[in-house]
Amino acid sequence: MVPINTLLRTQKSDDQILKPVIPGVNLPKKDLGYYLVTIFISALVHEFGHAVAAVRESVRINGFGMFVFVIYPGAFVDMHSETLFAVSAWKQLKIFCAGVWHNLVVVLIGALMLYSLPTTLRPFYTLNENLVIVSHTENSVVSGESGLIPGDIVTQINDCKVSSILSWRNCLTLALDSDTMMSYAVPQSVMDVQSHPTSLTEKDCVCGDTDNHICFQRNPLAVSPPNSKENLICLKAREVIIYSPCKELSPSTVCVAPYIGHLNNKTRLLVLYRTKKPPVLFFGHPAELHLSVIIGEVVPRFSWIPLFLPYTLENLFKYFISLSGALALLNIVPCYALDGQYIAKAVTDIVFKNFTADQREIILTLSVLCGTLLLVVNVALAMYNLLL
Ligand SMILES: [Zn+2]
Repeated sequence: MVPINTLLRTQKSDDQILKPVIPGVNLPKKDLGYYLVTIFISALVHEFGHAVAAVRESVRINGFGMFVFVIYPGAFVDMHSETLFAVSAWKQLKIFCAGVWHNLVVVLIGALMLYSLPTTLRPFYTLNENLVIVSHTENSVVSGESGLIPGDIVTQINDCKVSSILSWRNCLTLALDSDTMMSYAVPQSVMDVQSHPTSLTEKDCVCGDTDNHICFQRNPLAVSPPNSKENLICLKAREVIIYSPCKELSPSTVCVAPYIGHLNNKTRLLVLYRTKKPPVLFFGHPAELHLSVIIGEVVPRFSWIPLFLPYTLENLFKYFISLSGALALLNIVPCYALDGQYIAKAVTDIVFKNFTADQREIILTLSVLCGTLLLVVNVALAMYNLLL
């Protein structure tokens, strides 16, 4: 368990500066790799900072090592305590603060890299020009062979143009809000090879085969179409969507629309047009489609450039900022067993150098007790919010 700051998070408990991270609880499994790599490198940089400062101040180093506590990786530097406490308080302060400021340098580099990422990527990727499918979510309903594939550029949903995350959301909202389904003017010849539903109950309209036939309704724009078996027909959705909307109806065409009388009244037939590929059909709630995919606006300019790289880098930089920042913050608090305890001692020795040793000891004990209490309460509150 390592507290992190909350730059990454947007949930309710974000007002806390530090909160514990427990893989599988508030750390998504897919982010575990980022977490382990960044916490390990941040800890390594932190200890490296102590070691370099110690060598500069002529303090002996006994050893430098790495460890894994359960699944939390860490590092340590073992300084020779006699030579360490023999140097002046000012030099001790520099050595004990070195870990913290090395972590702050990592935060600064991470922030600069994150900020300059759009400029760095521009020669290789188009930004904010197209909407691309980056990946599927865990229980995606469009991950099959005839579904959406990572790298697909979606240009249109039904008759609504898509070019950004915002327009993707707007098009789905539009589809959801429209009272009528998309309707199509289908030639009579197509209707001639229709089949009727194999079963029709109040709750269900079933087309006999699984060959992408769905239940359509004739004349959906009529005021109150009777839902009789004669008015409901099974057609191949993929063959229907190529025809014009019903506003261009001619005497030789028949207007049809997907029948949703028996389904959730928010069920829609969505036709997702892609560049260089046939459209994908989605029959369901638009929100379900939205929750099935992770979308982005960064698209590789060339086929050999990996799609996921910008998203990986963005996540990595955010984790470095969060975890390195958390290590710095955690170690600056005057808390027992952390750098803050020794930093507080060195500061007390410098600021109150005219006080007696006993007086300095009282000031130090009080400040470390307060800091420890503050940290323990913070972590306890965070655990309470997280687990209860
Ligand atoms: Zn340290």
